[in-house]
Amino acid sequence: MAEYLELSGLTVAFDGFVAVDGVDLSVLAGELRFLIGPNGAGKTTLIDAVSGLVAATGSARFDGQELVGRKVHRIARLGVGRTFQTATVFEELSVLQNLDIAAGSRRGALSLLRRRTVVPEEVERTLDTVGLTDLADAPAGTLAHGQKQWLEIGMLLVQDARLLMLDEPVAGMSAEEKDETGRLLQRIAADRTVVVVEHDMDFMRAFATSVTVLHAGKVLSEGTVAQVQADPRVQEVYLGP
Ligand code: ADP
Repeated sequence: MAEYLELSGLTVAFDGFVAVDGVDLSVLAGELRFLIGPNGAGKTTLIDAVSGLVAATGSARFDGQELVGRKVHRIARLGVGRTFQTATVFEELSVLQNLDIAAGSRRGALSLLRRRTVVPEEVERTLDTVGLTDLADAPAGTLAHGQKQWLEIGMLLVQDARLLMLDEPVAGMSAEEKDETGRLLQRIAADRTVVVVEHDMDFMRAFATSVTVLHAGKVLSEGTVAQVQADPRVQEVYLGP
């Protein structure tokens, strides 16, 4: 299987403060990779760098294409998508309209000007994938917190994102919603590359196929859930010496 995301010496500095410090990381399609680490470890900055929101040095290749130095919209067009801790959906528009706009943004601005009478199959399929078919006509602002996250993930899917980086997707969710989200991510990760930044250790244990632990901007440990949990260096940063 092709190596999908490959970071090599990825570094982000803010006014001399190095938030991401020479990170090497490979994530294959089909993995459900969790990125964990204490607050301030550099997790969000790392996915910001891969998606082009902050400037970085070193290399971040996705599907063979170098992302470092490219603009945000170019990186998005290469199939890289991310969510934020607070879902960014159009609250007044329906679930379907949100997906339609996201699908249109992929095809270019022209398609937004054309009136559509038929729901494209892909949008319908995505509604089903993220479990929102029954809520297609509901204004996105009326969705529960978890459902908004699922809509946001759906928006990335119709944009044809093949690398999805999710920032704390289950924060604030009920146990049932977390479970639903985990199963959704498993389905998505079957043929796309998924990186999940998460603080919820139970969720990580239940769904991660591999884990990278960041600490002070560097990779501290990497492996299966069992391997990183057994790593004394990981226990030290979480529990103290
Ligand atoms: P995490 O997501 O692991 O909690 P962050 O990536 O948010 O960590 O932050 C890593 C470090 O970088 C923190 O010390 C944070 O204060 C710092 N940082 C993040 N963004 C900026 C910024 N725009 N300017 C200066 N420092 C920042």
